[in-house]
Amino acid sequence: MIPAQFEYHRPASVSEALQLLRSLPDAKLLAGGHSLLPMMKLRLTSPAHLIDLGRIKDLRYIKESGSAVAIGALTTHWTIESSPLVQQKLPSLAECARSIGDVQVRNVGTIGGSLAHTDPAADYPAAILALNADLVAEGPRGRRTIASGEFFTGLFSTALRPDEILVEVKMPVLPPRTGSAYLKFPHPASGFAVVGVAAVLTLDSKGRCEQARIGITGVGPFAYRPQRTEDALRGVALDDKTIAAAADKAGDGVDVNEDIFASADYRRHLAQVFTRRAIKAALQRAR
Ligand SMILES: Cc1cc2nc3c(=O)[nH]c(=O)nc-3n(C[C@H](O)[C@H](O)[C@H](O)COP(=O)(O)OP(=O)(O)OC[C@H]3O[C@@H](n4cnc5c(N)ncnc54)[C@H](O)[C@@H]3O)c2cc1C
Repeated sequence: MIPAQFEYHRPASVSEALQLLRSLPDAKLLAGGHSLLPMMKLRLTSPAHLIDLGRIKDLRYIKESGSAVAIGALTTHWTIESSPLVQQKLPSLAECARSIGDVQVRNVGTIGGSLAHTDPAADYPAAILALNADLVAEGPRGRRTIASGEFFTGLFSTALRPDEILVEVKMPVLPPRTGSAYLKFPHPASGFAVVGVAAVLTLDSKGRCEQARIGITGVGPFAYRPQRTEDALRGVALDDKTIAAAADKAGDGVDVNEDIFASADYRRHLAQVFTRRAIKAALQRAR
């Protein structure tokens, strides 16, 4: 399959890319191309101009910044999964990156591309919601920070403006007595999450759950935090019974996806099962 004709641009800096984005009608940014190019080949989108971010070295980094870890938007899934800093400070993010597709996809696909694309079955959205990430966008009016809870706005849609580039994802380093996990039921061919659940739990000095953040992907039109599950975990001692009761609420209030891979009932069931498992895995690591 061959995409429609387009003009190719290769800026060397974010400001050059922003200028192109502003001046070219019907342009799209290109990062790893692992979501955009298949869509172009299927003619689901036919942009007149492609602005390839690949040469902008300033967008490829992982660094500790105060009490947070900052990741440049062009950082590949493989770089994230193999980063000692991410493995140590944000283990569930490394676990999430490691679960994406296969090694070829992970070598080229980027965290910025995945989050900007926001496939309802993508893995990172669940992980970054649970990690309380901030996303940094740069546009003609400068930089602004978007909280992860406000970033995902609908099916394949985000709070990014058409003239903005996602430049960084920033996550606070996990505090002491905190455990995190990302688990998913993968589609057997692509590896995308039929259901994916991230859990981050902080225990108090008596071993009760002080803070719980859960992110779920694959279940609804976009990733979300199941408030009722989180509320049921906070302030209680976590045993099998409290965890199961909280996990049972994982699909509450969600318009659950239904497709050839899984019915709505099955997906809701998977959301409950994987929420339970992710909470248990995070709890074990918090102790
Ligand atoms: C075979 C296969 C298996 C896969 N399996 C999985 C999986 O298991 N889990 C999973 O989560 N994903 C999976 N993916 C998707 C993969 O992770 C993609 O790499 C990712 O979704 C998109 O990242 P990209 O860098 O390739 O972005 P691109 O395809 O280049 O871009 C995607 C979209 O984001 C926009 N964009 C890119 N970068 C930016 C930016 N910095 N700012 C603003 N907009 C931007 C582009 O304009 C485009 O609209 C799979 C893909 C393939 C081909």
